Amino acid sequence: MAIVDISSAGPSNLNILKKLGGISWWTEMGGSLIVSANARGFANMDSTGFVARVLPDLTTADDLRVLIAGHSSMALPAGVNTLADEGRARLVRGDSAALSALDQSNVDHGIHVGVFPVEPGKVILRSATNQDVPRRVSQRESFMVNDVARKVSKDRWWADVRKLAAWNRHISATGNIEARDWIKMNLAAIPGMEVTLQEFRVAGRSAWNVVGILPGERMVDDSGSASANDRGLVIVGGHFDSTSERASYAAPGAEDNASGAAGVIELARVMADVPHSEDIVFAAFSGEEQGLYGSAAFVEKLVEGLPEQETSRVRGVITMDMIGYSRSGTSGQPGVIIETESQYSDFARRFVEAAAEVTNLRVTTSFNPFGSDHVSFLDAGIPAILAIDADWNHYAHYHKTTDTPDKLTPELAYEILKMNAAVTALLAR
Ligand SMILES: [Zn+2]
Repeated sequence: MAIVDISSAGPSNLNILKKLGGISWWTEMGGSLIVSANARGFANMDSTGFVARVLPDLTTADDLRVLIAGHSSMALPAGVNTLADEGRARLVRGDSAALSALDQSNVDHGIHVGVFPVEPGKVILRSATNQDVPRRVSQRESFMVNDVARKVSKDRWWADVRKLAAWNRHISATGNIEARDWIKMNLAAIPGMEVTLQEFRVAGRSAWNVVGILPGERMVDDSGSASANDRGLVIVGGHFDSTSERASYAAPGAEDNASGAAGVIELARVMADVPHSEDIVFAAFSGEEQGLYGSAAFVEKLVEGLPEQETSRVRGVITMDMIGYSRSGTSGQPGVIIETESQYSDFARRFVEAAAEVTNLRVTTSFNPFGSDHVSFLDAGIPAILAIDADWNHYAHYHKTTDTPDKLTPELAYEILKMNAAVTALLAR
């Protein structure tokens, strides 16, 4: 097997490479393509100008794993080595004993990373440079999404982040209740919004999601009577609870996840001012840090009764978790990761297209979902994505008492919010 540098290949060269004679399978990992090639495959790569580095002793995908959501400071077990590290994904190889220990720790939840097998022919991660050239949206759509993006306010979002980060929002803290009520008040202040609290239990304790719904305007029959059950549903969500290494003392969670929760509120304000046929739900989840409890309770309620009918109403779910950290601040091109399952790659592509239309974002797509509220939806067969900043794994204040607003770059979140507002409007129109 070999690893080929595809960081500047571009989509058409990448397709040529994958189809070269003598290459039996590949797996795409950001700027690297892992290929299984024979002598003819190596000769073909050589003559087409691709530089392949042979991985000695590596003959099967069974000796590889993908780790998702490993912080950059995470130490790997002995016998496991990194081949590529990009976005939320790390491609590792190891001897079978080390890899089975890694698999087992995943089963036991002994580590806070997802461990996935490497599947031949699968895109693990697609870099911005290798995204298919975005289909230009129509002129009418272009006008619409630009109009929607212009309604997003960075300053409003930023004020909300600072407000939320002033509370300790750990589920055991009174600040969680105060933040909950403040979010409810803000959503309720939006014209047309119906807001409820959704109670659920985490380890014997009550916790609450805040759920707002903006009913769509579509009438379903000629007589003009609208039936809510026949309208589509678009869901925008993000958790508002937080944690830290000393959660009884402080858990400001500015990046994780005041940034995303404030994003939910901001998109709610924007969409209240945009015509939409379908219903849009805005959900601030709690209990995420204990294991996605809030979003799981939300999904359970959503599919209650008539599962098929309810889940098939959902046009798409957009979750945001950590959208405000940029390692290089405002210099350089801002980056975002859109994470979902391979079967929803077309859904992920809509974000690439919207980003090209209304932002200057570098969009990486990632197809091993793990560790945030999108997983609750995906597990129920509902199309969902996670939007997360591309540098989060370098954020030194992750789950710390020092995760405060001064560490964030509002300009990055602003771009991500414009992209998400555009997709929300396209899904709900
Ligand atoms: Zn989070």
